[in-house]
Amino acid sequence: MQKLTPIAIPALKDNYIWCIKNDHQCAVIDPGEATPVLNFLAKKRWQLTQILITHHHDDHQGGILELLAHFPYAEVYGSVTEAIMGLNRPLLGGETLKIVGLEAQVLALPGHTLGHLGYYLDGALFCGDTLFGGGCGRLFEGSYEQLYESLQKISELPNDTQIFPAHEYTLQNLKFAEAVEPLEVNPKIQIRIGKVRDLLDKKKPTLPSLLG
Ligand code: ZN
Ligand code: FE
Repeated sequence: MQKLTPIAIPALKDNYIWCIKNDHQCAVIDPGEATPVLNFLAKKRWQLTQILITHHHDDHQGGILELLAHFPYAEVYGSVTEAIMGLNRPLLGGETLKIVGLEAQVLALPGHTLGHLGYYLDGALFCGDTLFGGGCGRLFEGSYEQLYESLQKISELPNDTQIFPAHEYTLQNLKFAEAVEPLEVNPKIQIRIGKVRDLLDKKKPTLPSLLG
């Protein structure tokens, strides 16, 4: 039974900044910009206590400093090997720590970038740009072998793990999947495309997706 219900804060073109809250603690993952987060928190009257960064790209960390200006005591978690603004809780991957009071595991997921991290807690994986709905992230810094190993690591998590990526890419990915495996080969892709289009028509996120 999951304790948290992560909330998607849409940002930039197609980013989601996930927000989790437990008691009086509140965290956001990959705040690429601050304004939508600040508006959301003000409306909820929540205090930000933790910021989790999966990797150094601007659309994932661009809002950190402005958030810190409003919440100077917030902890900023991210890879020590990447240039992350305001980083005060440097990580390497492999750590166990407390996120919003719950035990969390930090996964090293190199590929998209070399220091890319994932945060696994409460049956949910916040995986940044490593795994998306219907596809995986692009390689910028790592090798194909590294990304493959990172995806293998994710696949070892329980099948009912909920996957929270940082972008709304599901439909584009499924269209690519459809080109590789047409209807005759894999009818499941068509079914999922239908479901995803419905959600997008209603302006709802197609995420989380289920690892299994
Ligand atoms: Zn990225
Ligand atoms: Fe990104």
